[in-house]
Amino acid sequence: MQLEVKTILNKIQPFLGFVYSDIRLRSLKRKLYLEITIEPHQAIGSKCSMCRKPAPGYDRLPERWWRFVPLWAIPAWFRYAPRRVECAEDGVVVEHLPWSEGKRPITTAMMCFLSRWARRLSWRETARAFDTSWECVYRSVEWFVQWGLAHRQLEGVTSIGVDEIHWGQSKRADHFLTVIYQIDRHCRRLLWVGPRRTQATLRRGLAALGEDVVKGLSFVCSDMWRPYLNVLAAKAAQALHVLDRFHITSHLNQALDQVRRAESARLRAAGRPQAEQLKNMRWKLLRRGNRVRGRARCQLGRLLRTKLVTARAWALKDLFEHFWTYKSVRGAGHFLEYWTWRALRSRIEPMKKVARMLRSHQDLLMNWFRAKGEISSAAVEGLNNKIRVVTRRSYGFRTYEAMEIALYHTLGRLPEPGEFTHRFC
Ligand SMILES: [Zn+2]
Repeated sequence: MQLEVKTILNKIQPFLGFVYSDIRLRSLKRKLYLEITIEPHQAIGSKCSMCRKPAPGYDRLPERWWRFVPLWAIPAWFRYAPRRVECAEDGVVVEHLPWSEGKRPITTAMMCFLSRWARRLSWRETARAFDTSWECVYRSVEWFVQWGLAHRQLEGVTSIGVDEIHWGQSKRADHFLTVIYQIDRHCRRLLWVGPRRTQATLRRGLAALGEDVVKGLSFVCSDMWRPYLNVLAAKAAQALHVLDRFHITSHLNQALDQVRRAESARLRAAGRPQAEQLKNMRWKLLRRGNRVRGRARCQLGRLLRTKLVTARAWALKDLFEHFWTYKSVRGAGHFLEYWTWRALRSRIEPMKKVARMLRSHQDLLMNWFRAKGEISSAAVEGLNNKIRVVTRRSYGFRTYEAMEIALYHTLGRLPEPGEFTHRFC
């Protein structure tokens, strides 16, 4: 049997009530394109686009074109003159077209196709690869994400992590995002993202998830950021609120880095040779002590044998790692007492500040041990890193809205539309 394009289309993309009547290879300014003409099926009547119920035809509108998935890199177009129908309930409206969505000149199959590629490539690259515009890729992904958000299941969310993420260049308030993740063992995903990091932002986020989800939470994980603590205490009082390891460690690291930078500047200003020793030590100091190996280990060892303030601050930070190994709340409590006592006597202001902060949030901190085994600190950290990969490409997104769509698209694990049709990629 001779294979025709029509045979393939009928096999992979049949539309009930419509037939592929004519398919032609044409060229415009020496560029090829496929013209796929669609006609109504003779025996099957039209449907109303509002209620999807059968409705008799009224008249016919001028022909429209929709972009379809390219075949052998040849752009393909559907052409069809939609009927208007006279629906008993909705009056005279345009008929339901199963390959299209609203007024867009692009088929849903093509929007799914572009969206799936936009997860593997940047939007710009996707546009270039399939000979379309950035705007077209953006609108496709936007439709894809909105469909996913409307159809996702939020049952069974028991643990969430709340965090702030910085994006863009400045430290202005609107260059922060508030994110809510699901951090259950069986499912880790981005649930919500919104601009800024205020109480209002988080309240909006929790409201978007819905009362049922918030009331069903068992664990909530966050940093010591005051606006978040307030809102979580008010909205999800039944959940065990945990200050997690990842956030505490990053506070210690920030304090240590502050000490290093200040000391380095001081030594350089005084023309002391030790300034050299602090150079290029940043990541070696910030890593967990037992994870620094080889030549870096020797450099770190040499630095730690000095009388520098940075060395003492590092020792405090490294000592705190021990805290996480406790099995009992009591043991951990004793250790915290000891550690903060030492830090407060260290005469290193950034470390003292961390110690005071830990003491004032002791209860929430101890919840980490009460929730042991239920919450993984790597979950929030891992998702944050993935978000950074996306926001760093943000120069290509132009607007905040576009970035938000991209975040849901890559991290939301959203259900996908068009599962009934052929997967083109
Ligand atoms: Zn109707």
